[in-house]
Order: sequence, then structure tokens, then C-alpha cells
Amino acid sequence: MFIPKRILFEKNALDYEIGNNIYNFFKNNENIEIINLKGNKLKENIPGNNIYDFYREGKRTLVVGVKKGMKFQSCKPSAHYQLPLMSGCIGQCEYCYLNTNLGDKPYMRVNVNVNEILQQAENYIQERLPEETIFEGSATSDPIPTEPYSNSLKQTIEYFSKSEMGKFRFVTKYTDVDTLLDIKHNNNTEIRFTLNTNKVINDFENKTPSAEKRIEACKKVIEAKYPTGFIIAPVFLYDGWKNDYKNLLLNLNQTLPDEITHPVTFEVISHRYTTKAKNVILQAFPDTTLPMIDEDRKFKYGQFGYGKYVYQNEEINEIKEFFNNEIENIFKNKIIKYII
Ligand code: SF4
Repeated sequence: MFIPKRILFEKNALDYEIGNNIYNFFKNNENIEIINLKGNKLKENIPGNNIYDFYREGKRTLVVGVKKGMKFQSCKPSAHYQLPLMSGCIGQCEYCYLNTNLGDKPYMRVNVNVNEILQQAENYIQERLPEETIFEGSATSDPIPTEPYSNSLKQTIEYFSKSEMGKFRFVTKYTDVDTLLDIKHNNNTEIRFTLNTNKVINDFENKTPSAEKRIEACKKVIEAKYPTGFIIAPVFLYDGWKNDYKNLLLNLNQTLPDEITHPVTFEVISHRYTTKAKNVILQAFPDTTLPMIDEDRKFKYGQFGYGKYVYQNEEINEIKEFFNNEIENIFKNKIIKYII
């Protein structure tokens, strides 16, 4: 659970139930600075004059605000639209795409007007009928660590449980799932967990739970009969990678309950980076040991028009063969969606 160092309440945020929930949860905690913003001077209240300091202070800041524009971003290929419940993440994964995309907003932001956001989701669902519409809740955040006191996912899952043609999905590395286990989801919400070997977690995924803790949370979610999936990403090739990833898959299989309502899905993504991301990472993490030597990689143009440094073809083929074989052999009730 995210315990921030400071909470910034934007104007009108306390007019909403979620804003009040958050305020009441933290108001007696003397270690937390609570700031009621009058205008929009948000950044002035987060210390740090350079990327390195601002990133670290931002990651300890919770912003509670009201979402204003109600035009949702598209979210291809995993969903039709992003559901803008929150943004930011408390993790400090060195390779994280948020470092580049939300570099100037490293703080966790919770939008309190969930009813209005869900009403707008309903408008999009109606527009796309008779097609189904899928909403992604983690396009710009990991939404789980604030859930115990915001209950924003709970409200959203319950909303979609009643929807005929709307579906919700999100992905997390965190474990605060308990408030989601006894609620009605009606199979309309898919929860996916990002997993990695403990070496990768220790080396690059700062302030995130261990593989074992994530797997325990997966188990609870599967027992609550949610459609569940795993994203194994980013896959790094290092001495002993096959052994470590195989053990991760074996541990996962051993922990999963015997009775699984839905086949578990697997998405496997090898490590890649852009030049822009590399430049930001080197400022936020000057001592990073992330493998980002351009000459070792293949440069590939992506579907969004910019190039990425990916592993060489032979290495990608090895990754594909390894994960295909192991997942096929180890898991019974599963679907491999893609390995890239
Ligand atoms: Fe980024 Fe996910 Fe790590 Fe959060 S947990 S820092 S969203 S990669």
C-alpha cells in the first residue's frame, strides 16, 4: 500500500467521496504533509530542481484531483480506450515507460470523479455497439497500491460487472488486492500480473514486491475467479536466464490453485528501449546497469513511428522457443498470447 510523504488535494477534490476517503485515511498521520492546493501550482509543492531529485520526491507524492477533459485516449492494441482513473506509479523500475511518457509527472495521481469517468465510458460503449468495448485501467499507472483507501478499482469493477458490452482490464506488479476479492466482477474484469525473475526485480524494479509476493496475490485473484493473465516482462538475457525464468514458471505453476475457472494467459515481452528513454533513464538512474549498449542490439522501427533497440533476431528466436516450450510443458489450462 502506498503511504505517501505528502498529499496534494486539488481544488474540489474533497467534494467527492474518494477524496474524502483518502483524506480521512491519512488526516491523523503526522508524518504526512497534507496540502490543499488553491490554484494549479502542483509542481511548486514537490521539491527537486533536477530530474533525479524531482523523480524521487514525485514518487513519494500523492495528488488527489478531479479529472477534467473527458476525451479518453485510445489504447491499441490491448484495449479500445484508456480508463483515466489514475496516473503514475510508486515503483521505480529503471526501464519504465512512464519515465519517458510521464517524466514531468512522476507522482501518483488519483482522480476522484470516478462516477463521471464511468459515465463517459458508458457513452463510448454505446457508440461502439453492437461491438464490445474494452477499457484499460493501467495504461499510465499501476493502480493497485492506492486501492486500499481509494476503492476506485472496486467501484469500477462493480460497475463493469453490470455491463453487457463493456470490459475492464488492468495490470499490476503489486499485491494490495484484498478489497477486490469478495466483490462481484461477473468475469468482466481481467487482472494481469507482471512477473520477472528475482534477479531482474532486485537489479531494476526498485520498490516493487518480490516474485513470490506477486505470485501469492495472483493466487488470490484466481481463487476469486477473475480472468487472470501474466505478463513476463521485460525479459533480459543474462548468465543463467533460462534457469531463473524456468524456476519462476515452476513456482508460479506450483502456487496456482488446482481449480482454475479461466485459462491463464501469457504475454512475454523482451527488453527494448528507445534513445529518448535511455537519455531519461541515465539522468534518473545514473548508475543503472540496464543493458543499453546500442551496438549489441538491433534497431527496429516500431508501429508508432519511432525506433527501438531490441535484442538480435537469434536472441529473440531463442526467447520465443524457450518460453513456448516451457509454458506449454508446465501449465495445463493456459493460452500463450504472444512472445515478442
Ligand atoms: Fe513502471 Fe510498472 Fe514499474 Fe510502476 S511497476 S514503475 S508502472 S514498470
